[in-house]
Amino acid sequence: MYVRGVGPRVAEILSARGIETAEDLLYHLPFRYEDRQNPRSLDELKAGETASVIAEVRGLALLRTRRGPIFELTIGQGRRAMKCIWFHATYLEGKFHAGQTVAVYGRVEPSRSSSNFKMIQPQFEVLPDASDDAETRLLEVGRITPVYESLGGSRLASRWQRKVIFNLLESMRGAVPECLPRALLDRLALPDRETALCEVHFPPEGTPFSELQSWSTPAHRRLIFEELFYLELGLEIKRRRLKERTGIAFGANEKVREAIREVLPFHPTAAQKRTLLEIVADMRAPTPMRRLLQGDVGSGKTIVAFQAMLVAMENGYQAALMAPTEILATQHFLAARKLLERSSRKPRIVLLTGSLDEDRKRSNRALINRGEAQLVIGTHALIEEKVEFDRLGLVVVDEQHRFGVLQRFKLMKKPGQAEPDVLVMTATPIPRTLALSLYGDLDLSVLDEMPPGRTPIVTRRIPDERSSEVWDFVRKQVALGRQAYIVYPVIEGTKDDQPELDFSHDPEDGIAAPAPRIRQKAKGAELLFPTAAQEANPTARSGLKSAVEMHEKLRAGPFAGLRVGLLHGRLDADEKEVIMRRFQRGEIQVLVSTTVIEVGVDVPNASVMVVEHAERFGLAQLHQLRGRVGRGAAKSYCILMTGPRISPLGEERVEAMIRTQNGFELAELDLSMRGPGEFFGTRQAGLPDLRVANLLRDRQTLELAKQEAARFAGEGGSEATEAERARVRAQLKETWQRRYGLVEAG
Ligand code: ADP
Ligand code: MG
Repeated sequence: MYVRGVGPRVAEILSARGIETAEDLLYHLPFRYEDRQNPRSLDELKAGETASVIAEVRGLALLRTRRGPIFELTIGQGRRAMKCIWFHATYLEGKFHAGQTVAVYGRVEPSRSSSNFKMIQPQFEVLPDASDDAETRLLEVGRITPVYESLGGSRLASRWQRKVIFNLLESMRGAVPECLPRALLDRLALPDRETALCEVHFPPEGTPFSELQSWSTPAHRRLIFEELFYLELGLEIKRRRLKERTGIAFGANEKVREAIREVLPFHPTAAQKRTLLEIVADMRAPTPMRRLLQGDVGSGKTIVAFQAMLVAMENGYQAALMAPTEILATQHFLAARKLLERSSRKPRIVLLTGSLDEDRKRSNRALINRGEAQLVIGTHALIEEKVEFDRLGLVVVDEQHRFGVLQRFKLMKKPGQAEPDVLVMTATPIPRTLALSLYGDLDLSVLDEMPPGRTPIVTRRIPDERSSEVWDFVRKQVALGRQAYIVYPVIEGTKDDQPELDFSHDPEDGIAAPAPRIRQKAKGAELLFPTAAQEANPTARSGLKSAVEMHEKLRAGPFAGLRVGLLHGRLDADEKEVIMRRFQRGEIQVLVSTTVIEVGVDVPNASVMVVEHAERFGLAQLHQLRGRVGRGAAKSYCILMTGPRISPLGEERVEAMIRTQNGFELAELDLSMRGPGEFFGTRQAGLPDLRVANLLRDRQTLELAKQEAARFAGEGGSEATEAERARVRAQLKETWQRRYGLVEAG
């Protein structure tokens, strides 16, 4: 479709931002609004609040300081004045001249002269004057004005978007196709699509400003609902389709039960019994199982999964377990061997990871293909190596592999065979309602009870300079027969190991992106957070202690005489296996490591977890790391060592860790601190990228959308006309294919 203001070059820029169609542009919503009907006066400002102010330019100056140039703008209303300051902003010099009207938006800071205020690095826009075109004036003066994140430099900033979107809406007047059934909208008292799109971009006079800022106007609610409805409808339909497919109906008779009993090393908790029953009930059913097993760190998911795999094996099928890292795969492999030693059947267990040598891979693949391996444990390699199973019955998979993997299990079975059952395990304590809504195509089992005999973990924060006390403490624990982990944020102190910072703020653009975004550079499971110093100054590369260097130092110094090991992601599979095995057997007393041990590592005798640069780790990571101890009967300790410069968020994370051990509580906090995208690691977890809705803010709407989607897919769909239903189906297909890339996720 032709959009006024969008030529081929601009279209290219937009396309790079994921905006391909007119519709995409219309769903690029303002991230805030400015009330230019009733502007705030400088008199009524209070220090500490975030405000938008319209005032006249009185003066400007470029100050050369030792720390670089500072651009200072003085704006005023009547007798009142306010200073605005930007650092390193020589490019601003030509932008302003006295007498202009500007809108600035930022935090109001007290200024040295007590009567005045200042703003540091505010967002700004020069308001149009008589020399500007009428349209610009119409859209920006004396009304509630939308502010957009730039789609490309100053050229495609707010002003451009206002015009293009305004014209687009004008040209589509009366012709924006509705995509939700009328009866549904009426029932929920939501506006139609066209009205919603018009009002969300250009709010009518009198729209309560607080509703706009909190995205709760009827227009916002409609668009949020729409997006979540389609997400949920897609999940619902997948779930319904699955129930129509043929799976394997496993038997679970006394013989199978006995096979499980003979290997169980302990009495399962009530929660473990209950979840296993739920899983086995699915396995017995003739439709394929798709179930999510959720349980906090240490709740005992592994044994539940092994029991389910035994059911499959007892039925003469192969079972596969896919772990997120090689270390974890190796650990599961060792644990399975130990567990199944007691089994009278003595199943053959095979490990398949990417870094095995080619010969072993080849022979393992052959064992799997001929059905001689009953239990296969591996990483993503299970899929990548195109292993064809002889008779695959059950796949247990870690949530990190979720989407993008489920549909590929089809590759693992021989054509014509029934679909294997799939059990997804997650240690992310997603709040239950969110889990239900997001994994709407999976059934949910929750392990909500810890195995008995756990003592709470003592968590302490110790500043860097007192490290010698920490090392003394570790030595004492080791002398008592315990083991310890010492975790570092990077492998080696090389440049590559540094977190990558990405400031999407374009210096040419008056309206900056909402906040500098920190792009986490994924290195296996090793993700980083910026330090305070880096948050303030992205170019500062502060010295980070690394696992490799500290392993040397600790071994030669504080831990001389102890058996100290080193584990990180760059070792190959065999080396990892040897280290893990030696640590498990107690031959290594102190394991210096990176976050590769974050997920799942299970050595009950380890009772001390020391995390250096703790302020740099995410809350979920810290929680997972702490979950590595407190697994046995011994009293356990988590020592969070912190450096001298800590960002407020880093501070908050460390404090939260000390305050609580409840995974769900920490997850809620993490979610609110980071926002859902980063919390779930959107891409990694395969969650859809939402453009309007926000999973944290819109949880209630998510619930509503789920109910309505189920109703629509079922009986309630009859409230829609045939034409409406066809429209919904078409939109659903479009949405899922294009936006979520989840065409047919198993
Ligand atoms: P996670 O849910 O984090 O994967 P694991 O499966 O690794 O937890 O179990 C944590 C620890 O608790 C392991 O050492 C495991 O052997 C032990 N465990 C699990 N279930 C029980 C139980 N019912 N009784 C005693 N110990 C258990
Ligand atoms: Mg586990």
